[in-house]
Amino acid sequence: MRVKRYMGETVQEAMQKVKMDLGRDAIIISTRKVRKRGIAGFFIRPLIEVVATIDDYVKRDEKKPYAVKEAEQKKENYINSSFVDNKEKNILSSIDVNMTMDNMQSEFSELKTMINKVYNTIKEDDDRYSDLVKEYLNRLRKNEVEEEIIRDIKERINADLTLHMQEDENIVRNFIYNILLEYFPKESEDFNDASKKVRIFVGPTGVGKTTTLAKLAAIFSLSRKKKVGFITSDTYRIAAVEQLRTYSEIINVPLSVIYSPLEFVDAVKKYREKDIIMVDTAGRSHKDRYQLMELKPLLNENIDSQVYLVISATTKMTDCKEIINSYSFLKDYKLLFTKIDETSSFGIILNTAYLTKKPLSYVTIGQNVPDDIEVADINKIINSLLGDRLYERSS
Ligand code: GDP
Repeated sequence: MRVKRYMGETVQEAMQKVKMDLGRDAIIISTRKVRKRGIAGFFIRPLIEVVATIDDYVKRDEKKPYAVKEAEQKKENYINSSFVDNKEKNILSSIDVNMTMDNMQSEFSELKTMINKVYNTIKEDDDRYSDLVKEYLNRLRKNEVEEEIIRDIKERINADLTLHMQEDENIVRNFIYNILLEYFPKESEDFNDASKKVRIFVGPTGVGKTTTLAKLAAIFSLSRKKKVGFITSDTYRIAAVEQLRTYSEIINVPLSVIYSPLEFVDAVKKYREKDIIMVDTAGRSHKDRYQLMELKPLLNENIDSQVYLVISATTKMTDCKEIINSYSFLKDYKLLFTKIDETSSFGIILNTAYLTKKPLSYVTIGQNVPDDIEVADINKIINSLLGDRLYERSS
């Protein structure tokens, strides 16, 4: 920043000089009258002194916002004032008002564009539908249903429902219901179906795998009178093995702890008399590819198994997409959603079924073993997406 002084007989004259020298973007710092002594020692007519400045940045960018100039000027004035000590001056000088203001300005305008875009897609598009349809679309949005799915629903309403039909609650609800139904693969789960002997539970840490395993084992062994065996390869955390051991003692189901894929085959053989073998795996970070690959030998052995990918319903959709991607090496699996009781947003279930094309198995709705688990009921999930409150804790 250059600061220069200009003298003139009048304000206009001094300003003219400023303009000639620094251009139209000059910033006036101060204007004052100065009296100089003449040759004979007398005061002569006062002159006007204008102190002005121009920031190089202004030259580079003629469109520099006024706010930036003003902030810079304030900063400069403050630094030059008498009550600022040197230390403070240094700190202040290092603050780049341009950058700060610029960044804020550009981020703000980006944000504005983004909001406008979203608002326009929603508004312009939604304007073509009845209030009732809009209400249903909003319910889906509240449930964080992917915009791609909502777009599909809108297009199909547009093609198939007249505005008159769009006023009818039954028509609208059934129409959307049936579209949502198409997104869920039809293969269902059944507590009474013990055809898949080996059931392997995979998924990120802390989603509730072990608890879910215990719930299912309790149901199979206690109420369905099946012979159940536990295997765990989750040997990374002592607590994990201990947790399953405790359940195995309570439910009276034997537990085998395995440290290698070979031991897995042996453990399955050992349980040849069992009806169902439930396998707990280490809850690995889905971001760690190496850890995930350790699962592969378990799944590739010549053992006919059913894999369940366990995902918490409280997971953010962006994280959920990462999880799905990182487990994409699994060919066949069923989805199992936990912690349904902790969310009021069911979009994740629909979105995941839509993205993976994998069938749902169970949902868990609380921490109680064995009560808080149900076979995933697609009707109930769709009705929840459409605004009904159907999932409540058992306690
Ligand atoms: P893992 O690391 O995947 O084996 O997870 P855990 O089975 O150890 O569970 C982690 C935590 O989630 C525990 O505190 C469980 O009680 C809790 N949890 C499991 N399932 C549910 C559920 O359906 N709802 C709620 N609210 N908590 C659950």
